[in-house]
Amino acid sequence: MIELKNIKKTYFRGSEELPILKDISLSVDIGEFVAIVGPSGSGKSTLMNTIGLLDVPTSGSYTLDGVVTQKMKDDQLAELRNQKIGFIFQQFNLLPRLTALENVELPMIYAGIGRKERRDRAMEMLTMLGMGTRGGHRPSELSGGQQQRVAIARALAIGPSLLLADEPTGALDSKTGREVLELMLQLNEAGNTIVLITHDLHIAEHAKRIVTIRDGMIISDVANVPLVPVEPPVEVTS
Ligand code: ATP
Ligand code: MG
Repeated sequence: MIELKNIKKTYFRGSEELPILKDISLSVDIGEFVAIVGPSGSGKSTLMNTIGLLDVPTSGSYTLDGVVTQKMKDDQLAELRNQKIGFIFQQFNLLPRLTALENVELPMIYAGIGRKERRDRAMEMLTMLGMGTRGGHRPSELSGGQQQRVAIARALAIGPSLLLADEPTGALDSKTGREVLELMLQLNEAGNTIVLITHDLHIAEHAKRIVTIRDGMIISDVANVPLVPVEPPVEVTS
């Protein structure tokens, strides 16, 4: 599904080169739940922008759902992005003047879906996320956790291949953050592929796989086998 090979991202300050991503190779399969963790400034958001087709790497190759992206033009990248990727951000990024329902409809407008189908589907998504009665509310009339649910409904609206979340719990208190995490785990159980970027290890530890990035490089990539208590062997005595 995601195939990054030898990705480098370099910024230039005058003639000075600032390597931000240094030779990142990463594959993510359909149905995975991957957490990308690392300290501030390690390159997590730069990597997310690459995976999300919001920015192009300086070199290397990126194939998404079999589509080779490196030679694509901006408008082609935008089309692929709108088709394939649902974004969830720390600050929810809902449009304040639109209602919850209208916010969820927005990506479907870009996708060219007709009005009636858009409305119905937006309502269905909000209902699925427990926000069915809040469709007429503006973001300012909703709590942080509710706004993030609307943002997740919006991300799901076009049936994306990939959900990409950058610190989705970062602006929430820990209880609400856990609820949003629980929601993402359920979405993964239902078959959604999720890449979650966070520096909160308590959140990351729930992912099936944890990729650690430091200083623009992947330093570890482990399947997170949950620690289940192991029963001591029972001695059979006669
Ligand atoms: P945080 O946890 O604080 O969000 P991060 O891991 O997401 O950090 P990035 O935002 O990817 O880090 O930034 C990685 C490095 O790249 C930082 O040192 C940052 O200053 C630098 N950087 C990011 N964007 C640019 C840019 N447009 N031009 C120059 N340097 C940049
Ligand atoms: Mg970041």
